[in-house]
This record gives sequence, structure tokens and C-alpha cells, in this order.
Amino acid sequence: MTVRAVEVIAEAEVIAYHSARHGRSIARSIAARHIRADHIEEALVYPVTTETTDHPGGYRGALDEFYAVAAARLAAHLDAGRTVAVLAEGDPLFYGSYMHMHKRLADRYPTEVIPGVTSVSAAAARLGTPLAEGEEVLTILPGTLPEEELTARLASTDAAVVMKLGRTFPRVRRAMESSGRLAEARYVERATMAGERTGRLADTDPESVPYFSVAVLPSRIGAPAGPDHTATAADADAGSGSDTGTGTGTGEVVVVGTGPAGPLWLTPETRGALASAEDLVGYTTYLERVPVRPGQRRHGSDNKVESERAEFALELARRGRRVAVVSGGDPGVFAMATAVLEAAAQEAYREVPVRVLPGVTAANAAAAKAGAPLGHDYAALSLSDRLKPWEVIAERLHAAAAADLVLALYNPGSRSRTWQVGKARELLLEHRAPDTPVVLARDVGGPEESVRIVRLADLDPSAVDMRTILLVGSSQTRVVRRGDGQEVVWTPRRYPET
Ligand code: SAH
Repeated sequence: MTVRAVEVIAEAEVIAYHSARHGRSIARSIAARHIRADHIEEALVYPVTTETTDHPGGYRGALDEFYAVAAARLAAHLDAGRTVAVLAEGDPLFYGSYMHMHKRLADRYPTEVIPGVTSVSAAAARLGTPLAEGEEVLTILPGTLPEEELTARLASTDAAVVMKLGRTFPRVRRAMESSGRLAEARYVERATMAGERTGRLADTDPESVPYFSVAVLPSRIGAPAGPDHTATAADADAGSGSDTGTGTGTGEVVVVGTGPAGPLWLTPETRGALASAEDLVGYTTYLERVPVRPGQRRHGSDNKVESERAEFALELARRGRRVAVVSGGDPGVFAMATAVLEAAAQEAYREVPVRVLPGVTAANAAAAKAGAPLGHDYAALSLSDRLKPWEVIAERLHAAAAADLVLALYNPGSRSRTWQVGKARELLLEHRAPDTPVVLARDVGGPEESVRIVRLADLDPSAVDMRTILLVGSSQTRVVRRGDGQEVVWTPRRYPET
């Protein structure tokens, strides 16, 4: 308890506290030695503890009525000129019952909220490990969230505290496991109180877990190596050179995509994989989208050496390192996943685990910005003739255009590849009307984003570069100007005559 809390209790005439039915108030027991015989006590006892009630408004209705009655009881004291101290365990505005009184009374009576020490701080203190350091993100989660939601949040955060365990414990444990965080997870029960217990979450018997406990993922900066975190500090300090280092455990390669641009486009799974990797391998442009982390090694290269990069990543993993290979967009769309799997087919890398995580590909990002041009059947093609002859590209363009597919054209051009877009336009005009809508999307999600809708006949090759994707409409694709002046484009899901 803070000094200020003790002072306020001493000055108050009325001491109020919430408690569960049949239950003692934990807040009251913490404050017990400051409560005097001449204090008037107001025990605000919850009418329900589970979600079963015969109240006509259900659980919600029963609670609302309870809060209204409780607030009226406190208001009666306040109207009589008495000072009321409401006890709240931890901090009053942090998942506490007090806030229901606050919302009903604070606008009518002078109110002072005295901050308290939350279970989050208490748990970290009792574990004696840093909770969040530097730029780490700390996430606080109620264990009552759905398991999938917990998994996603745990996968994507650095540090975390999960509150409200008890019956939720098995689900929280499963979420820790599926997010790959179980080995780091700690358990703290009744922090700073009698009966306190701390330990590894994985070793905690679910049957023994009360509501009054939290799960903690402490800071991972400089954290000692756990069973699934086996690189040594010496490895991490070995610098960012091209040496492959040695790990002592089971390495793996995770192939991830950043989406088209910055962090908004990262999936929680990818964010987590990037954070827990020991080595990042990729084209420098994509690596730059990933925040620098202490202890993590970055191996940037230019975008022309895919197979070397893939082998380098596999070699690191074979020596026990956790490696993330970073692509833009989705790693399986004209990107590194294939290169890694191709290299992994070699005998030497047969046993190296490889996982591919999906990302938001440029076509989907661009389509969303323009409306829904990919709403019906479409084909994705790369216009780059670096890895396949132009004749093959031309044949496929003809076939896809003749099939009336919407086309997502990746790699339409670059500084050294300037004629492909013009050729493609001529070829497509053999099948499509001149005013077929084309979405010309550049740097989607990035600082230079531009998304324009042009006519196929007006498609200007000089408007296209390496960071551009083209979405060419089918015969059915429509453009409409909305009330705000914006044009949107979509391809109907229904074909005429159906
Ligand atoms: N794996 C990536 C594609 C790599 S090929 C993905 O799934 O998106 C590279 C091409 O992707 C670029 O030439 C361009 O056509 C497209 N592209 C990638 N990011 C883009 C962005 N932010 N805006 C527009 N096009 C993009």
C-alpha cells in the first residue's frame, strides 16, 4: 500500500470494498491493520460469481443493478458529508471493480484516485527479472480472451503479463505453447502476499492455479537461453559479418514476408518469428523494414543472389541457429520461399527444419486500396524476363487475357527493364477493350504510395518502376466515382447470364 493510501484511510469515515459472494475481500485483508473500529464499513458483495442468474437482464443485468445499488449506498454517505475510501486491490483503475463506482459517482462528488501497485509490477518484482527494456513492447492480456487471440498476441509481443488465470489457465498454457513462448513463461501466484508461489509456467499444475495469479513473459533482452532458445551470448556478439557461427541446439529457417511496406502489414505470427530469430537474412531493402534488436545478427545482401542467400540461411540453421529469411510481401509469391526449399532439397540440408509463414502480397494490398478488382478469378504473373524467357511471358499473357482473367502483373519494369509494359499493353489490347481499367499501384503502404486507375490504352510504361504492380481488369471490371470524388474499381462476382 502507498503512503497516500494509508493517509486517506486514516482520514475517511467510511471504508468500502467489493467482495465476491461468500468470499472475503482481498482488498480489505490487505488494508486490515489500517481499519479502525470507528470506521463505518460498506461491504459491496457481488450477487453473482458465475454467468448463471435468474435476473431478467441476465448476468449483465444483475451486475448493472448491483453497481447502481452499490453506488447509491456510497452516495448516501457522501450526501451526509462523510468521506468514503473505496479499497481496491492493486490499482483502482486497472481491471478493478472500483471503476464501476467511479463512472457512477466521480462526476457528482469530488474524487481522488490514488494509484496503486499493480500485480504486474508485483509479479515482475517477485520474479526478479526485467519485465520490459529499451524498445520492447509489454502486452497485458486478460486470460479470458479466446485462445486464438491469446496465441496471436503472445506470438507478436516481446514481454507479456496474462491476468485472470484460474479456470482460464489450461487455455493460457496452450496459447503459450502454440505461440512458441512456453519455455520463457513464468507463473506468479499471490505476489507479495502470504502463500506466494513463483515458478515456470510449464511446471505448474493447472488444477492448483487460483484466479489470483498471473503468467509472465519477461524481457527477452539478454535472457538466459531456454530449451528452445539455444544460441549462446558469444554467438550473438560475434557481429554481423558473414560467418555462420555455431549454435548448440536445433536451428531452423523460417521464411517470412513483411507485407508490402511497414509494420501495419506484418501478421502477428511473422512479427513473432522476426523477434525470436537469432539471424535475419534477406535483401537489404526488406531487412530495413525490420526493427533492429539487440543480440540479433542481420545479414543483408542485394536482391540478385537468392540461392546463395538461401544456402547461407540453411547453413546457419544446420549449425543450430534460428534464422528468419525475409522477403517483401508474401514469401511464396515471386520471392525467397522457393529458393530456400530448392536449396533445402540438397542432401546436406535435408534435416534442417524449414517453415514458410504467409504474408500480405502486393496484389492483395494494391487491390484493397483500389476497391475489389480481384473479386473474381484472376491470375498473377511476373513480367520479369530475368528468370524466364519473354516468349513464355507473352504466351501466358495471351492465354490469361483470352480466358478473361483479371491480371496481377508483378515486376512490370525497372530501370534496366523498360519495354515489357509497352509490349504487354499491345498484347492485352488484342483481347481487351481500350478502356479496360488498370490499377497502377506504386509503393503501396509506403511513404510514396500512389494508386491510380487508368485506361489500358493509356497505360504509360514510363509511369511504372520496380515498386509498381499493375492490376488489369477483365471485361467485367467496373469503375465508379463515389460521393467523395474517389474512383473505386471492382470485378463482380457474378458473371452475366448467371
Ligand atoms: N513477394 C512479393 C513480390 C516480390 S516481386 C509480394 O508478395 O508482394 C516484386 C514486385 O512486387 C515488385 O516489382 C512490385 O511489382 C510488387 N510490389 C512489392 N511491394 C509493392 C508495393 N508496396 N507496392 C506496389 N508493388 C509492390
